[in-house]
Amino acid sequence: MIEQPALQLGLWQVLDIVAVALILYQLYRLTRGTAAIRIFLGILAIYLVYQIVDALQMRMLAEILGQFIGVGVIALLIVFQQELRQFLLLIGNRQFVRSAPPWLQKWFGRNGDGRGMASQWTELRLGLEECRRRRLGALVVIPREADPGPVATGWVPIDAQISAGLIVSLFEKASPLHDGAACIDRLRVRWAAGILPVSGRMDLPAQCGTRHRAAVGISEQTDALVLVVSEETGALSIAEEGRLQLGVRFEMLESRLDAAFSSGDSTQN
Ligand code: ATP
Ligand code: MG
Repeated sequence: MIEQPALQLGLWQVLDIVAVALILYQLYRLTRGTAAIRIFLGILAIYLVYQIVDALQMRMLAEILGQFIGVGVIALLIVFQQELRQFLLLIGNRQFVRSAPPWLQKWFGRNGDGRGMASQWTELRLGLEECRRRRLGALVVIPREADPGPVATGWVPIDAQISAGLIVSLFEKASPLHDGAACIDRLRVRWAAGILPVSGRMDLPAQCGTRHRAAVGISEQTDALVLVVSEETGALSIAEEGRLQLGVRFEMLESRLDAAFSSGDSTQN
């Protein structure tokens, strides 16, 4: 009788499986709702067919598919360039920086003690509320670690203190800089009129036009938190990590920004 070797699962094998499952899950989350998920499933299908063909010893087909899979890693890097970038950002920001000791967070995240933040966020909120009253659309990018500058185009440098009046002036239709996004970095308005990458997600609500898609787009490619005031409805929305939260109450904005950018999670000081 042939002895079947017992299936031995040590601690490291279990960790191995959990790690692979986590990576696949994160990749799924990043690609969910995008065209990339279909490519991902396509590649998975080819790999499964290859395994079957190889097991059945269908040499020629296995050879061809084997060659394809051989260059597959490079093809994957090219096809999933955006998703990998997001994935690495995710690891860098969330797991590592957040759990690092404060001195390291300071070094990595350009953090400060949060002084002056509260009043600045109030100014921003008052400005955005005034935009809503005047039926102006607004789009504000607030980065964490990653600089959104290289991903956006056409932006005009500003470097000014945040004030409600400035925010309204930036999005006032008569202003030459009103078209596009403004960026607030380390509690200063850094630039305006930036054209952001537009998300290709297919599962966004129908009322989301290009402004909302641009907010989601930059939040997919960087770790920024993005605020949108809709010109059509006056609603405030927040885009973060490729997700869009519609209809956020303006009164919640300061606490939301405080939570996102207080020391330990932010660059905003
Ligand atoms: P709203 O609810 O305010 O109407 P929306 O999501 O329906 O927003 P549009 O109506 O298409 O979007 O808004 C167009 C405006 O959005 C443009 O005038 C421009 O200011 C801004 N916008 C559009 N695309 C971009 C982009 N890629 N980057 C930055 N701003 C953009
Ligand atoms: Mg619109």
